[in-house]
Amino acid sequence: MKAKTLAVRAGQTRSHFQEHAEALYLTSSFVFESAAQAAARFAGDEEGFVYSRYANPTVAMFESRLAALEGGERCVATASGMAAILAVVMTFCQAGDRIVAGRGLFGATQQLFATILTRFGVTTEWVELSDSDAAATAIRRVRPRLVYCESPTNPLTELIDLALVAEVAHEVGALFVVDNCFCTPILQQPLAFGADLVVHSATKYLDGQGRVLGGAVVGAQVLVNEVVRFLRTAGPSLSPFNAWVLLKGLETLPLRMQAHCAHAQAVAEFLAGHPNVTRVYFPGLPSHPQHALAKRQQRGFGGIVAFEVAGERQAAWQVIDRVRLFSITANLGDAKSTITHPASTTHGRLAPEVRAAMGVREGLIRLSVGLEDPEDLIADLDQALTLR
Ligand SMILES: *Cc1c(COP(=O)(O)O)cnc(C)c1O
Repeated sequence: MKAKTLAVRAGQTRSHFQEHAEALYLTSSFVFESAAQAAARFAGDEEGFVYSRYANPTVAMFESRLAALEGGERCVATASGMAAILAVVMTFCQAGDRIVAGRGLFGATQQLFATILTRFGVTTEWVELSDSDAAATAIRRVRPRLVYCESPTNPLTELIDLALVAEVAHEVGALFVVDNCFCTPILQQPLAFGADLVVHSATKYLDGQGRVLGGAVVGAQVLVNEVVRFLRTAGPSLSPFNAWVLLKGLETLPLRMQAHCAHAQAVAEFLAGHPNVTRVYFPGLPSHPQHALAKRQQRGFGGIVAFEVAGERQAAWQVIDRVRLFSITANLGDAKSTITHPASTTHGRLAPEVRAAMGVREGLIRLSVGLEDPEDLIADLDQALTLR
């Protein structure tokens, strides 16, 4: 079935009450009919719920729905996006293993790889994966356990050719992991291009209304089963309440993504024609260097737009301080549009020269374009840019 149908219908189970909406099972444990049944459930000889760190009916509905949308065999939910990423690394890596990671990853993912994993002997090589030749050369040289990327990247919206990277990763026996947070399965299904695992920060578009934290790992049954084994022991499971919020979020995901894409396109086109904007980063503009790849790999161009104004930090901060509609917050994927200065927030911990090498300049501003009327968003940006 199509995404709009799966988003509303996939994965629902009903109790004997026959409730129409998905039920919220806010319980930490489940009772057994006998000591023998308890033993059988614990041993895994009998199917059924035991304890919500292992599995929960509301969480299971969210997992099934997201697996259906991603076209994956199995999904396991986690307490946050970072918990999903940590679970994948802890499941598949051991001391001595290497990771090849794309540049331009989410800040906390970079910190996890660069500072925490190194203490356990897992090292990361940072590669410009958006450059296909550089990607292939580095993966063949490093022979990593994992190849890890986001596409498009944050904040510069660079794309990675997923089919190409998947092929080279498999050639050296690596697992290819894609953080699909920016596109969601509505715009891009990495598994269809050969990725082994998809990770999500459900906190962003899957919720879509900025309410709860959550994450997920999706992929083949044999791989996700391993991640489940780690999670049920290590503990960063998703709360049933958060799963219930996210489950309802998925119902409107296809419609929301359509609107995010349309509004972002309008905002990007406006910015591209504004005299005080020196550069716009958005895969939906024909001037984007990977516009053709974006058309091939994605079903829409997403809701994230970055742009530069001339001058230093002060010029960018002035625009941010002058907008009235956009919220000044680093969150993204919300119904509400947000505005961020990456160089002093999400990328503020990086050394200035590292930031410069990544292309995150002082004049750069990132927008997550929300569901407000794009005419109002454009008017707001226009007054903020023109008063300068
Ligand atoms: C926010 C985010 C994460 C981390 O997710 P949390 O739910 O905040 O833990 C990971 N990847 C990307 C691309 C993100 O935007």
